[in-house]
Amino acid sequence: MTMGTVWFVGAGPGDPELITVKGRGLIERAGAILYAGSLVDEAATRWAPPGCVIADSKGMTLDEMSAWLLAQAARCETVLRLQTGDPALYGTLIELVQPLDVAGVPIGVVPGVSSAMASAAAAVESFTLPEVTQTTIFTRVAGRTPMPEGEDLAALAAHRCTLCIFLSITLLHRVEAGLRAAGWAEDAPVLVVHKASWPGEERIVRGTLATFKQLCRQAGIVSQAMVIASPTLGARQWPQLTKSRLYDAAFTHRFRQASA
Ligand code: SAH
Repeated sequence: MTMGTVWFVGAGPGDPELITVKGRGLIERAGAILYAGSLVDEAATRWAPPGCVIADSKGMTLDEMSAWLLAQAARCETVLRLQTGDPALYGTLIELVQPLDVAGVPIGVVPGVSSAMASAAAAVESFTLPEVTQTTIFTRVAGRTPMPEGEDLAALAAHRCTLCIFLSITLLHRVEAGLRAAGWAEDAPVLVVHKASWPGEERIVRGTLATFKQLCRQAGIVSQAMVIASPTLGARQWPQLTKSRLYDAAFTHRFRQASA
């Protein structure tokens, strides 16, 4: 029996138009789609062909999901696991790939636009700026999943780089405590984006370490939000920027000779 391929496809952050062309193409020829909750429902139903078997994994255990994907791969050529954002971040990619490997089912992964990137886009922010920070950390605070040794927010925040904090909107007291413990100033900017890229539902909260928790509470934001702490936030309004060397007139690189 030849098995179909199971594709793990990043559906993007919410706007159905933010799926990749490749991801959409796979949806259009999928025989079966297992999607992760309400977030990616829209993309699946918008482009799936008639007769495609579509299921929500919300109520399934990991074993049930594996069994579902296996059964569908035995039946059809193209099976999709649709996940929010990018499959490499806070998903169950490896847990689901391992049983498919054991069963000899071919798999493929199609990347997606992470909610971290969609949040930056929504707020017109850059995670990196010359001589401010050149590093971005994707992290979370401990919830039911504990943080590995050395990855406490306080330790990571000590780098004074950009921090994209996933899965933490109900744990803002821990975010606040972590940034404080690392010595971030009370007026350090903190950005929260709720439902980044969702048409008509996106909300942006700009505050500081001292105010962001209260502002989120007032705005009633309790789910699907990205918390970003970064020394680059608000740079659009800065009067003085250190310009990137790449575009500096005095800098020679492969595509351009320095003018002086
Ligand atoms: N793989 C996903 C992350 C899944 S974990 C990605 O790359 O984006 C789920 C967390 O992602 C949520 O708790 C929230 O922090 C964040 N998230 C997902 N979609 C979001 C959106 N549209 N806006 C803001 N945050 C979002």
